[in-house]
Amino acid sequence: MRLLVVGSMAFDSIRSPFGEVERVVGGSATYFSLAASYLVPVRLVSVVGTDFPAEVIRTLASRSIDLTGLKVSEGKTFHWKGFYEYDLNTAHTVTTELNVFRDFAPVLPEVYRDTPYVFLGNIAPALQLDILRQVRRPKLVALDTMNYWIESSPGPLREVIGKVDILMVNEGEVRMLTGEYNLVKAARRVIGWGPSRVVIKRGEYGVLHLSDGTMFAAPAYPLETIFDPTGAGDSFAGGFMGYLASCGDRELTDMDFRLATMYGSAIASYTVEAFSTEKLQNLTPEDISDRLGSFLALTEFRV
Ligand code: AMP
Repeated sequence: MRLLVVGSMAFDSIRSPFGEVERVVGGSATYFSLAASYLVPVRLVSVVGTDFPAEVIRTLASRSIDLTGLKVSEGKTFHWKGFYEYDLNTAHTVTTELNVFRDFAPVLPEVYRDTPYVFLGNIAPALQLDILRQVRRPKLVALDTMNYWIESSPGPLREVIGKVDILMVNEGEVRMLTGEYNLVKAARRVIGWGPSRVVIKRGEYGVLHLSDGTMFAAPAYPLETIFDPTGAGDSFAGGFMGYLASCGDRELTDMDFRLATMYGSAIASYTVEAFSTEKLQNLTPEDISDRLGSFLALTEFRV
């Protein structure tokens, strides 16, 4: 297995202009692993409480997601409560209840330690650092974070960003992190801290992928039905890293990173069409290739 994810598994309570749901299944590792599992098998590290539904764990296990690194602890599962206004690009947090994550000290199963592709999903930076200390010479490490950790844990966050290859955040977060409004300048500042690439998620405006010397922009697919943007970022990351991990041992090219961006965008475009993981977990490989084709048609032009 070539791809490892650490992140949250959660109950989410969400209000959007299109409806409201209470305690549905979410979390960065949940969305990421489901999305990536369409492309490669995934190793997952996370913790849930005894209240987490067994049937969801069974669904993940049936999707070639290795759950050896999933701990079930006495206590309650992480709970995030948030809402979106008509600007679906900004999630407003009402409460974050860490619950079993508060005392979580992940110990990587021995078989996980040589995984070449690692995704440090949105979770406490101290835990992300902990995982990095336990993996042996990974080929590529990407990291996601959010305003909660930028505010509450700036020191460990800066330390872990300095150790990864790709920072993957949304545009508000990269501005907050760097104090720089202009996204190209903000990305350049992050590249100065260590990562060689910055992937900036811009909600309905798509994705901007910057490295030293290259830029790639992907639109978001213009959808008629969007219910809930929760999980779009993690589904994007799952498609992105899943594609890269599927490339085998060869050297990754700029075109691989572009295609990874499009796989991420295609899968994420399905996630937002329903609340929770409902749509994401019921895709077919044809759905994904159809959406890739639609993206090609959307952006094709000649000069
Ligand atoms: P996104 O893909 O960026 O929309 O992330 C959505 C997921 O992030 C939700 O399912 C939440 O459970 C999870 N989440 C929200 N706040 C946090 C946090 N502080 N740490 C880890 N995960 C979080």
